[in-house]
Amino acid sequence: AEPIRVGIVGYGNLGRGVERAIGANPDMRPAGVFTRRAPSSVVPASESTTVRGIDDLAGLQDEIDVLVLCGGSRSDLPLQSPQLASAYSLVDSFDTHPRIPEHFAAVDASARAAGTTAIISTGWDPGLFSLQRLYGEAILPQGATHTFWGRGLSQGHSDAIRRIPGVAGGVQYTIPSEEAMARVRAGESPVLSTRDKHTRECFVVLEDGADADAVREAIVTMPDYFEPYDTTVHFITAEELARDHAGAPHGGFVIRSGTTSSGTTQTVEFRLALDSNPEFTASVLVAYARAAARLASAGDHGAKTPFDVAPGLLSPKSPEALRAELL
Ligand code: NDP
Repeated sequence: AEPIRVGIVGYGNLGRGVERAIGANPDMRPAGVFTRRAPSSVVPASESTTVRGIDDLAGLQDEIDVLVLCGGSRSDLPLQSPQLASAYSLVDSFDTHPRIPEHFAAVDASARAAGTTAIISTGWDPGLFSLQRLYGEAILPQGATHTFWGRGLSQGHSDAIRRIPGVAGGVQYTIPSEEAMARVRAGESPVLSTRDKHTRECFVVLEDGADADAVREAIVTMPDYFEPYDTTVHFITAEELARDHAGAPHGGFVIRSGTTSSGTTQTVEFRLALDSNPEFTASVLVAYARAAARLASAGDHGAKTPFDVAPGLLSPKSPEALRAELL
């Protein structure tokens, strides 16, 4: 079979992860990076990767089967996904949960008019976690689903810390409560508040002369971000921050616990433990890029979410091989 030619739109953390993930999939070929910045200012990890301006995407359909969109959910994907679906099949990792219905509608209109296939909101949450929530609910209709995140670095909360006066640097980890998870696993179906489910741990570097107590107070009382949680703040040196907190670990748990008859508890659990959130998310995007290319060539057009994509389409193996090896 011909390799699937994959273009990368946007070259940040996710874009770098996609470049690497394409290299790990022998049925795929890189078709270059497309950036909004000056192409000469973007240095790809691999020398063989070409970098072009995003405007060059006008008319490259003969060279590209599917695009992987690696822009941010806040302001990049709401524009880029509908726009590019009018010319290419694509996948994105749109993760602003409450806005997924409107994003789907915009991408669907564009993809249907153009005859392309666009799989939105792939990745792990939304994405793989969404699938686990669906399986749990469908199989155990009498029960409850709980999602726990972490231990993981939260970019949004780390940014919020760094904006506080007196803070020179810092990171924030979200930590799931072991006690809350144990109760869910035991089938107790507890009612859990935000404070019960997760704690937050911050590692902060102060500017010279900054008041540690004032910074700690500003963090733990910050509405929405920290106030609803039990938050611990540790002050560390810039060297410690660089040495111990440079990675982007993340992960979490989806736990469905239900009953199939009185007193018969059934529990389903899915866990991710990720050393690198962007490299893992990129690997999910690339598997969905394979599915998008296949759906497009089968004439199954429009917007899709992971709920609409048959699992076998993610695998490089044929349906025959999957039946023989994995069933
Ligand atoms: P980044 O901030 O690293 O990159 C986003 C975009 O910023 C890039 O595509 C790039 O586009 C642009 N950019 C501008 N200047 C620079 C620069 N100097 N260096 C790097 N990039 C630059 O975001 P991430 O890749 O970490 O994450 C992207 C999105 O992925 C997140 O917003 C989130 O929505 C999603 N995500 C989804 C997950 C899921 O489970 N569904 C999990 C993790 C992330 P350009 O090259 O065009 O300038």
